[in-house]
Order: sequence, then C-alpha cells, then structure tokens
Amino acid sequence: MTSRPGGTERTRGRRLADRAVTETAALHAVLDAGLVAHVGVVDDGQPFVLPMGYARMGDDLVLHGSTGSRLMRCLAAGAPTCVTVTLLDGMVLARSAFESSMNYRTAMVLGVARRLDGDEELAALRALSDHLLPGRWDDIRPPSAKERAATMTVALPLAECSVKIRTGGPDDDPADLVDPMYARTWAGEVPLEASFGTPVPEPASAASPVPRYVSQWGRA
Ligand SMILES: Cc1cc2nc3c(=O)[nH]c(=O)nc-3n(C[C@H](O)[C@H](O)[C@H](O)COP(=O)(O)OP(=O)(O)OC[C@H]3O[C@@H](n4cnc5c(N)ncnc54)[C@H](O)[C@@H]3O)c2cc1C
Repeated sequence: MTSRPGGTERTRGRRLADRAVTETAALHAVLDAGLVAHVGVVDDGQPFVLPMGYARMGDDLVLHGSTGSRLMRCLAAGAPTCVTVTLLDGMVLARSAFESSMNYRTAMVLGVARRLDGDEELAALRALSDHLLPGRWDDIRPPSAKERAATMTVALPLAECSVKIRTGGPDDDPADLVDPMYARTWAGEVPLEASFGTPVPEPASAASPVPRYVSQWGRA
C-alpha cells in the first residue's frame, strides 16, 4: 500500500507547509504525469543524483538501467535513495524578486529499492514502456534473454514520500501593491506547457502511417 505523503518525520513539510499535500492520489498523479526522475545515492561518501526514466507500478516506483551502472548497482545492493520528480507548470512574476516564484508539482520518495527478476522484472519493463511510451510495447520486439541479462531493474516502495504543489498567481508583499513605483508593474503567472512536436519518421518508416498512440502523445 502507498503510504500517506508527508506521513513521517523526515517527509513532513516544514517551510511553506501549505504547499505540502497529503493525499495518496496526488502522489500517484504527480508520478503518473512525469517522465524523468532524479535518483540520488551516496557512493563511497559522494552523493550522485542522476536523471532517469521511471514508472509507477502500483505501490512501487520502478527503474531500470545497465547492469554495469554504478547507480543501479548501488540501488540493487540496498543503498538508501531519494527520488524526486518535478513538473514545472509556470513562472510566477511578483512585484519583488523575493515573492517571484514558480508553479510546480513535485514528489519525493525515500527508501531502499529491491532488485526484480523473472516475471516481476518483465512486468516492470512493460510498466516503464507503458508509462514513457504508452501503446508502444505491443508493437515492438520484447527484450531478448541477452538484453534482459544486461539490464537491471529495481522497485522502490512508495512507503515514505511527500508531495508539494504550488498553483496560482503571485503572493505580493502588501506594501508593494500600494507602492507608487511598483504597484503598476505587471504581475501574474506565465503557464509552461509541455507537449510533443510533430513526429519525424526515420527513412524506412516514411511511407508508414504514424501510429495513433504517437500522434496523440500528450502529458497531463
Ligand atoms: C532524460 C534521461 C533519462 C534517462 N533514463 C535512464 C534510465 O531509465 N536508465 C538508465 O540507466 N539511465 C538513464 N539515463 C542516463 C543516466 O542519467 C546515467 O547517465 C546512466 O544511468 C549512467 O549511470 P552510471 O551510474 O553508470 O553513471 P557513471 O558511469 O557512474 O557516471 C560517471 C560520471 O558520469 C557523469 N554522468 C553520468 N550520467 C550523467 C548524466 N545523465 N548527466 C551528466 N553527467 C552524468 C557523472 O559525473 C558521473 O559521476 C537517462 C538520462 C536522461 C538525461
């Protein structure tokens, strides 16, 4: 079961706690909307934080990579990790630098991952494909035994997590709203929308129709 976000001492929102969200559905929504996670481990005393594709598979977050990857080997060996997913939704322009901000949805998961194998690993690979490239798995060759042997897959339980969300316009200092110089400065929010561009076929696919799941790809 996914734990309630912010439910532990380490994940409870402190500063700007009003932006902390405690609904499990919100955690799932952020994870399901993102494409890239930043995955942190400490190896030999040095923190490393790397961008990776990921997927939520039920109450786990799954990651995959090369068996030769330091990060994957650290995760599979039980190194504690911190995974964050950030969705940038817009810029917030206030009348002061201090109150200027960004709108965002972010999730953080702390814990220890476990290595997957067999059918569980194959299900995770499919979940990754379905999340990153919805509809693609059924059209492509499944991983061969050799490719499976070169790939490591881990699952991180959504047992200790937190969510923070900021929406809306600026929260100006009341003094700036009546200041003769700055009250007339334009303020507001500028949404940032992520979308895929027009698909570019490789030469041998030039005459083939673009699959609907490609032409209709979008992000929430
Ligand atoms: C959008 C995106 C999605 C990705 N998805 C995956 C994925 O699903 N699975 C996966 O295994 N890898 C993924 N990668 C690549 C991943 O970030 C690492 O480069 C890769 O996993 C190698 O990790 P490693 O532990 O072997 O790195 P190492 O070989 O241990 O890295 C050595 C050094 O190279 C540098 N380095 C490594 N990666 C990066 C990087 N991304 N940017 C800048 N410097 C770097 C660092 O200085 C690091 O200390 C993704 C990268 C991006 C940008």
